[in-house]
Amino acid sequence: MRIARAVRSDAEGEGGRALFERIGAFLADQRLAPTPTNYAFAHRLFTEADDALARAVELITERGVRLTSRDIQTLTADHTPEDDAQIAQAELKSRTEGLVARTQMQVEGFADMVTAMRAETADFGRDLAASAEAMSSGSDTPQATDDIVRITAGMLNRIRIAEKKLESSTREANELREKLEEARDNARRDPLTQLPNRRAFEEAFTAQEATGGSMCIAVCDIDHFKSVNDRFGHAVGDRVLRVIADALAHCCRGHLVTRYGGEEFAILFTNVPLDKAHAVLEHARTTVQTKRYKLRDNDAPLGEITFSAGLTPVEAGEMHQTAFHRADRLLYLAKHEGRNQVKTGSASYSEFRR
Ligand code: GH3
Ligand code: MG
Ligand code: MG
Repeated sequence: MRIARAVRSDAEGEGGRALFERIGAFLADQRLAPTPTNYAFAHRLFTEADDALARAVELITERGVRLTSRDIQTLTADHTPEDDAQIAQAELKSRTEGLVARTQMQVEGFADMVTAMRAETADFGRDLAASAEAMSSGSDTPQATDDIVRITAGMLNRIRIAEKKLESSTREANELREKLEEARDNARRDPLTQLPNRRAFEEAFTAQEATGGSMCIAVCDIDHFKSVNDRFGHAVGDRVLRVIADALAHCCRGHLVTRYGGEEFAILFTNVPLDKAHAVLEHARTTVQTKRYKLRDNDAPLGEITFSAGLTPVEAGEMHQTAFHRADRLLYLAKHEGRNQVKTGSASYSEFRR
């Protein structure tokens, strides 16, 4: 349905009322609420000479698919997935910095409290010693007893106040600890797919290296993913990424499946021979290929989606970058030789096979 262009060219020269009616009809047709965002979007669609926007709407609404609020958000956001990743990273950084500042304040608060308590205890000890001294020397005994009672009551009061402060500080410290753990976890997780991210991959590599155990690295990249975005929009692209992430995580369970970046996933196989890793990856590849991907709104098929992969064993003592680079070159070879395949090779490149 060529909504955008037809409507826009007709709209030229029309009065405000006609434009208003056209926008209303478009929103009703797309079952979109007449919110300011949706109205502004439709207004822009019919009045601005924005071919890219018109084309994007045409592509989405082809075959009777209706626009969703998410599509409008994506189409008007005017940013790329890379921008999204950067924004998420910046938000994470500022949240983490906020937590660090709060933790610092807490530690300083604790230190101040302990110093104050120590000073009070010292005063208490001194006063008590003076009263005891007065009692033992036999002078003015009733007065000395009164002093002890007064000093002790004052100290008990202070202790009660300190206990309350300590209680609330402990509660806050526990809360902070949970938030810090969450921040630590978020820093190692991809928000879109919920898979561990590149940082988690690199840390796991270093940890496995330290144990002296064997490793294989696979780099998987979705084939022609740009065309999924171009044909169906980024929102659909995002959903496809999630589905593939789930499929990889399921097929490769027991191994570390990470979203390394964009439409690329890296898998770390530990303590398994290359043949076994290859079989697991092949199973994942056929699973992804045979899945039926459909548009949520009208069940229209998206067509086949596949990935290519490079898989390599890590040599003893080999740097992460070296092994990863080799897996990446094997991936490139898989793309070059027609995509939808896994290429395997060892450090000497002696043995490439499908
Ligand atoms: P090839 O088979 O050679 O890998 O082709 P390709 O189209 O997959 O590769 P290309 O590098 O040309 O395009 C990758 C696309 O993936 C472009 C980028 O916008 C998209 N992409 C990366 N991250 C995301 C994301 O988080 N969400 C969505 N929807 N798209 C993403
Ligand atoms: Mg890529
Ligand atoms: Mg790709």
